[in-house]
Amino acid sequence: MAKAYLGLGTNLGQKQENLEKAVDILKGHSEIQVLKVSSFYETDPVGYENQDKFLNAALVCETYLEPYELLDFIQQIEKELKRVREIRWGPRTIDVDILLYDSLQLLDDPRLIIPHPRMTEREFVLEPLAEITPKTVHPGTGKTIAFLLDELKRISKR
Ligand code: ATP
Ligand code: CA
Ligand code: CA
Repeated sequence: MAKAYLGLGTNLGQKQENLEKAVDILKGHSEIQVLKVSSFYETDPVGYENQDKFLNAALVCETYLEPYELLDFIQQIEKELKRVREIRWGPRTIDVDILLYDSLQLLDDPRLIIPHPRMTEREFVLEPLAEITPKTVHPGTGKTIAFLLDELKRISKR
């Protein structure tokens, strides 16, 4: 069994409800056990700024699904919540990313890169993740999530 860390985000419609629905769908899978869900964080959009604020969260689960099976399932959730892909980094009802999967590193296939390649530069990912699992080590850098968040906050204040 593996421990997987997921990042969730939404900025369309009933945001709290969208996050809750996504979490419930994950909880409903027989091979996924959701261990902890972070608080929901309201964050400003990054990348494409002309859109509504986001609500972000992170969760940790235990799962028998292999990384690609987990990816398929989270993409199914996105479909179910009627996500439409239009603008890159644009508005969406739900986005679920695989942030970490045990200490696995998958770097060769753009369809699934683990750890999520942009997680270390995003406060909206590290903040909720640090709430639920500060001491987990990010296998790319060897640094803990709490340390990465602290580092990022120091950089963004400069
Ligand atoms: P970002 O990846 O910068 O957070 P995004 O989440 O808006 O942007 P999407 O349109 O949701 O991007 O995803 C684009 C593709 O990224 C997906 O189709 C998926 O195959 C791929 N992908 C690669 N690595 C991951 C990962 N760790 N988790 C989820 N999707 C991934
Ligand atoms: Ca994302
Ligand atoms: Ca995504």
